[in-house]
Amino acid sequence: MRTDAIEGSPLLELDSVHVGYGRTAALHGVSLHVRPGETVALIGANGAGKSTTLRAISGLLKPGRGSIRFKGRDIGGMAPDRIVGLGIAHCPEERHVWPAMTVYENLVLGAYLCRAAATVQQRVEKVYERFPRLKERHQQLAGTLSGGEQQMLAIGRALMSEPVLLLLDEPSLGLSPKIAAEVFDVVREINRQGVTVLLVEQNVHNALGAASRAYVFETGKVVAERDAAGLLEDPELLTAYLGG
Ligand code: ATP
Repeated sequence: MRTDAIEGSPLLELDSVHVGYGRTAALHGVSLHVRPGETVALIGANGAGKSTTLRAISGLLKPGRGSIRFKGRDIGGMAPDRIVGLGIAHCPEERHVWPAMTVYENLVLGAYLCRAAATVQQRVEKVYERFPRLKERHQQLAGTLSGGEQQMLAIGRALMSEPVLLLLDEPSLGLSPKIAAEVFDVVREINRQGVTVLLVEQNVHNALGAASRAYVFETGKVVAERDAAGLLEDPELLTAYLGG
Protein backbone atom coordinates (compact mmCIF):
# COMPACT_ATOMS: atom_id res chain seq x y z
CA MET A 1 0.00 0.00 0.00
CA ARG A 2 1.42 3.37 -0.98
CA THR A 3 1.96 5.98 1.73
CA ASP A 4 0.55 8.81 -0.38
CA ALA A 5 -2.73 6.93 -0.79
CA ILE A 6 -3.40 7.03 2.95
CA GLU A 7 -4.97 10.06 4.50
CA GLY A 8 -6.34 11.10 7.84
CA SER A 9 -4.95 11.21 11.34
CA PRO A 10 -2.58 8.57 12.68
CA LEU A 11 -3.96 5.39 14.19
CA LEU A 12 -0.94 5.16 16.47
CA GLU A 13 1.30 7.99 17.58
CA LEU A 14 4.35 7.88 19.85
CA ASP A 15 5.69 11.19 21.04
CA SER A 16 9.11 11.37 22.78
CA VAL A 17 8.69 7.98 24.45
CA HIS A 18 11.31 7.03 27.04
CA VAL A 19 11.40 3.45 28.34
CA GLY A 20 13.89 1.63 30.55
CA TYR A 21 14.49 -1.79 32.05
CA GLY A 22 14.93 -0.92 35.70
CA ARG A 23 17.48 1.87 35.70
CA THR A 24 18.80 1.06 32.25
CA ALA A 25 17.34 3.35 29.62
CA ALA A 26 16.41 1.59 26.36
CA LEU A 27 14.38 4.21 24.46
CA HIS A 28 15.47 7.84 24.49
CA GLY A 29 12.54 9.83 23.15
CA VAL A 30 11.08 7.77 20.31
CA SER A 31 8.52 9.52 18.11
CA LEU A 32 6.73 7.78 15.26
CA HIS A 33 3.29 7.33 13.79
CA VAL A 34 1.32 4.72 11.89
CA ARG A 35 -1.66 5.64 9.72
CA PRO A 36 -4.70 3.40 9.25
CA GLY A 37 -4.03 0.74 6.63
CA GLU A 38 -0.25 1.09 6.57
CA THR A 39 2.42 -1.49 7.13
CA VAL A 40 5.32 0.27 8.84
CA ALA A 41 8.66 -1.38 9.58
CA LEU A 42 11.06 -0.67 12.42
CA ILE A 43 14.57 -1.60 11.37
CA GLY A 44 18.01 -1.25 12.95
CA ALA A 45 20.81 -3.21 14.54
CA ASN A 46 20.42 -5.63 17.46
CA GLY A 47 19.62 -3.85 20.69
CA ALA A 48 18.50 -0.63 18.97
CA GLY A 49 15.15 -0.62 20.79
CA LYS A 50 12.70 -1.97 18.22
CA SER A 51 11.23 -4.76 20.37
CA THR A 52 11.15 -2.44 23.37
CA THR A 53 9.03 -0.04 21.32
CA LEU A 54 6.50 -2.79 20.56
CA ARG A 55 6.45 -3.84 24.23
CA ALA A 56 5.70 -0.27 25.29
CA ILE A 57 2.83 -0.03 22.77
CA SER A 58 1.25 -3.29 23.96
CA GLY A 59 1.54 -2.30 27.61
CA LEU A 60 4.22 -4.81 28.63
CA LEU A 61 6.50 -1.89 29.52
CA LYS A 62 5.45 1.44 30.97
CA PRO A 63 6.95 4.56 29.42
CA GLY A 64 8.77 6.77 31.91
CA ARG A 65 8.10 9.85 29.79
CA GLY A 66 6.31 10.67 26.55
CA SER A 67 2.94 9.62 25.19
CA ILE A 68 1.52 6.70 23.22
CA ARG A 69 -1.81 7.44 21.56
CA PHE A 70 -4.02 4.92 19.80
CA LYS A 71 -7.09 6.23 17.96
CA GLY A 72 -6.39 9.52 19.74
CA ARG A 73 -6.50 7.94 23.20
CA ASP A 74 -3.53 7.86 25.58
CA ILE A 75 -2.66 4.19 26.17
CA GLY A 76 0.81 4.63 27.69
CA GLY A 77 1.07 2.41 30.76
CA MET A 78 -2.44 0.96 30.33
CA ALA A 79 -2.81 -2.75 31.27
CA PRO A 80 -2.03 -5.10 28.34
CA ASP A 81 -5.48 -6.74 28.32
CA ARG A 82 -7.17 -3.33 28.00
CA ILE A 83 -4.88 -2.54 25.09
CA VAL A 84 -5.83 -5.83 23.41
CA GLY A 85 -9.46 -4.87 23.99
CA LEU A 86 -8.90 -1.57 22.17
CA GLY A 87 -7.65 -3.44 19.10
CA ILE A 88 -3.90 -3.97 19.37
CA ALA A 89 -2.44 -7.49 19.19
CA HIS A 90 1.22 -8.25 19.82
CA CYS A 91 2.86 -11.23 18.15
CA PRO A 92 6.12 -11.43 20.12
CA GLU A 93 9.67 -12.28 19.13
CA GLU A 94 10.37 -16.05 19.27
CA ARG A 95 6.63 -16.70 18.89
CA HIS A 96 5.95 -17.96 22.44
CA VAL A 97 3.31 -20.48 21.49
CA TRP A 98 2.32 -22.82 24.33
CA PRO A 99 4.17 -25.99 23.34
CA ALA A 100 2.16 -28.46 25.42
CA MET A 101 -1.19 -27.20 24.12
CA THR A 102 -2.74 -28.05 20.79
CA VAL A 103 -2.94 -25.70 17.84
CA TYR A 104 -6.64 -25.25 18.53
CA GLU A 105 -6.10 -24.48 22.24
CA ASN A 106 -3.40 -21.93 21.40
CA LEU A 107 -5.79 -20.18 19.04
CA VAL A 108 -8.65 -20.12 21.53
CA LEU A 109 -6.37 -18.48 24.09
CA GLY A 110 -5.81 -15.64 21.63
CA ALA A 111 -9.49 -14.74 21.97
CA TYR A 112 -9.42 -14.71 25.78
CA LEU A 113 -11.35 -11.43 25.94
CA CYS A 114 -14.24 -12.83 23.91
CA ARG A 115 -16.84 -14.65 26.02
CA ALA A 116 -19.14 -15.81 23.20
CA ALA A 117 -18.11 -19.38 22.30
CA ALA A 118 -19.76 -19.14 18.86
CA THR A 119 -17.73 -16.03 18.01
CA VAL A 120 -14.52 -17.70 19.15
CA GLN A 121 -15.35 -20.65 16.92
CA GLN A 122 -16.00 -18.36 13.94
CA ARG A 123 -12.63 -16.71 14.49
CA VAL A 124 -10.88 -20.09 14.66
CA GLU A 125 -12.51 -21.02 11.33
CA LYS A 126 -11.32 -17.73 9.82
CA VAL A 127 -7.75 -18.44 10.97
CA TYR A 128 -7.97 -21.97 9.55
CA GLU A 129 -9.11 -20.54 6.21
CA ARG A 130 -6.05 -18.33 6.14
CA PHE A 131 -3.72 -21.11 7.37
CA PRO A 132 -5.00 -24.45 6.05
CA ARG A 133 -1.89 -26.10 7.46
CA LEU A 134 -3.00 -25.19 10.99
CA LYS A 135 -6.40 -26.72 10.29
CA GLU A 136 -4.71 -29.96 9.23
CA ARG A 137 -2.77 -29.93 12.50
CA HIS A 138 -5.43 -28.57 14.83
CA GLN A 139 -5.07 -31.34 17.43
CA GLN A 140 -1.27 -31.42 17.25
CA LEU A 141 0.77 -30.06 20.15
CA ALA A 142 2.23 -26.68 19.21
CA GLY A 143 5.69 -27.72 20.40
CA THR A 144 5.84 -30.38 17.68
CA LEU A 145 5.20 -27.94 14.81
CA SER A 146 7.97 -26.71 12.53
CA GLY A 147 9.35 -23.18 13.05
CA GLY A 148 7.31 -21.82 10.14
CA GLU A 149 4.13 -23.46 11.40
CA GLN A 150 4.74 -22.07 14.90
CA GLN A 151 5.14 -18.60 13.39
CA MET A 152 1.86 -19.00 11.50
CA LEU A 153 0.24 -20.17 14.75
CA ALA A 154 1.60 -17.15 16.64
CA ILE A 155 0.20 -14.83 13.96
CA GLY A 156 -3.09 -16.74 13.91
CA ARG A 157 -3.33 -16.48 17.70
CA ALA A 158 -2.76 -12.71 17.51
CA LEU A 159 -5.50 -12.44 14.86
CA MET A 160 -7.94 -14.20 17.21
CA SER A 161 -8.47 -10.88 19.02
CA GLU A 162 -9.50 -9.34 15.64
CA PRO A 163 -6.99 -6.52 15.95
CA VAL A 164 -7.04 -3.18 14.19
CA LEU A 165 -3.28 -2.97 14.65
CA LEU A 166 -0.97 -5.99 14.61
CA LEU A 167 2.46 -5.64 16.22
CA LEU A 168 4.72 -8.24 14.66
CA ASP A 169 8.17 -8.87 16.12
CA GLU A 170 10.80 -10.65 13.96
CA PRO A 171 8.45 -13.00 12.12
CA SER A 172 11.28 -14.47 10.01
CA LEU A 173 13.58 -15.28 12.94
CA GLY A 174 15.18 -18.71 12.47
CA LEU A 175 13.21 -19.53 9.32
CA SER A 176 14.60 -20.56 5.94
CA PRO A 177 14.35 -17.87 3.22
CA LYS A 178 11.55 -19.84 1.53
CA ILE A 179 9.44 -20.11 4.68
CA ALA A 180 10.21 -16.48 5.61
CA ALA A 181 8.91 -15.43 2.19
CA GLU A 182 5.68 -17.36 2.88
CA VAL A 183 5.32 -15.60 6.22
CA PHE A 184 5.73 -12.22 4.52
CA ASP A 185 3.12 -13.16 1.89
CA VAL A 186 0.77 -13.73 4.81
CA VAL A 187 1.69 -10.36 6.35
CA ARG A 188 0.91 -8.58 3.07
CA GLU A 189 -2.39 -10.44 2.78
CA ILE A 190 -3.41 -9.56 6.35
CA ASN A 191 -2.66 -5.91 5.58
CA ARG A 192 -4.62 -6.03 2.31
CA GLN A 193 -7.59 -7.28 4.29
CA GLY A 194 -7.52 -4.15 6.42
CA VAL A 195 -5.26 -4.80 9.41
CA THR A 196 -2.65 -2.11 10.05
CA VAL A 197 0.77 -3.62 10.76
CA LEU A 198 3.77 -2.40 12.72
CA LEU A 199 6.63 -4.75 12.01
CA VAL A 200 10.06 -5.32 13.55
CA GLU A 201 12.37 -7.24 11.28
CA GLN A 202 16.12 -7.89 11.05
CA ASN A 203 15.92 -8.83 7.39
CA VAL A 204 15.69 -5.41 5.77
CA HIS A 205 14.65 -6.72 2.38
CA ASN A 206 11.79 -8.73 3.85
CA ALA A 207 10.75 -5.74 5.94
CA LEU A 208 10.86 -3.23 3.13
CA GLY A 209 9.14 -5.66 0.76
CA ALA A 210 6.09 -5.68 3.04
CA ALA A 211 6.12 -2.11 4.39
CA SER A 212 5.25 1.22 2.84
CA ARG A 213 7.39 3.19 5.32
CA ALA A 214 10.18 2.47 7.73
CA TYR A 215 11.84 3.99 10.76
CA VAL A 216 15.52 3.32 11.32
CA PHE A 217 16.48 2.84 14.97
CA GLU A 218 19.88 3.30 16.52
CA THR A 219 20.65 3.01 20.25
CA GLY A 220 17.12 3.73 21.43
CA LYS A 221 16.37 6.53 18.98
CA VAL A 222 14.76 6.98 15.59
CA VAL A 223 17.51 8.26 13.28
CA ALA A 224 15.64 8.21 9.96
CA GLU A 225 12.17 7.83 8.49
CA ARG A 226 11.78 6.93 4.81
CA ASP A 227 9.32 5.41 2.45
CA ALA A 228 10.33 1.79 1.89
CA ALA A 229 11.23 2.15 -1.78
CA GLY A 230 13.42 5.20 -1.04
CA LEU A 231 15.25 3.36 1.72
CA LEU A 232 16.02 0.39 -0.49
CA GLU A 233 17.65 2.83 -2.91
CA ASP A 234 19.73 4.48 -0.20
CA PRO A 235 22.67 2.10 0.25
CA GLU A 236 24.60 4.68 2.29
CA LEU A 237 21.89 4.86 4.94
CA LEU A 238 21.47 1.10 4.98
CA THR A 239 25.20 0.59 5.36
CA ALA A 240 25.55 3.29 7.99
CA TYR A 241 22.89 1.94 10.32
CA LEU A 242 22.43 -1.66 9.37
CA GLY A 243 25.81 -2.73 8.10
CA GLY A 244 24.66 -3.03 4.49
P1 ATP B 1 16.89 -7.25 18.95
O1 ATP B 1 16.61 -7.50 17.53
O2 ATP B 1 18.23 -7.72 19.38
O3 ATP B 1 15.78 -7.67 19.87
P2 ATP B 1 15.95 -4.56 19.36
O4 ATP B 1 16.21 -3.39 18.46
O5 ATP B 1 14.60 -5.14 19.33
O6 ATP B 1 17.04 -5.66 19.06
P3 ATP B 1 15.55 -4.30 22.16
O7 ATP B 1 15.36 -5.77 22.39
O8 ATP B 1 14.39 -3.41 22.20
O9 ATP B 1 16.34 -4.08 20.80
O10 ATP B 1 16.67 -3.81 23.21
C1 ATP B 1 16.93 -2.43 23.47
C2 ATP B 1 17.88 -2.35 24.66
O11 ATP B 1 17.20 -2.83 25.82
C3 ATP B 1 19.14 -3.19 24.50
O12 ATP B 1 20.19 -2.48 25.09
C4 ATP B 1 18.83 -4.43 25.29
O13 ATP B 1 20.00 -5.01 25.82
C5 ATP B 1 17.94 -3.91 26.39
N1 ATP B 1 16.98 -4.92 26.84
C6 ATP B 1 16.09 -5.59 26.04
N2 ATP B 1 15.35 -6.44 26.78
C7 ATP B 1 15.78 -6.31 28.05
C8 ATP B 1 15.39 -6.93 29.29
N3 ATP B 1 14.40 -7.83 29.35
N4 ATP B 1 16.06 -6.55 30.40
C9 ATP B 1 17.05 -5.63 30.35
N5 ATP B 1 17.45 -5.00 29.23
C10 ATP B 1 16.83 -5.34 28.09
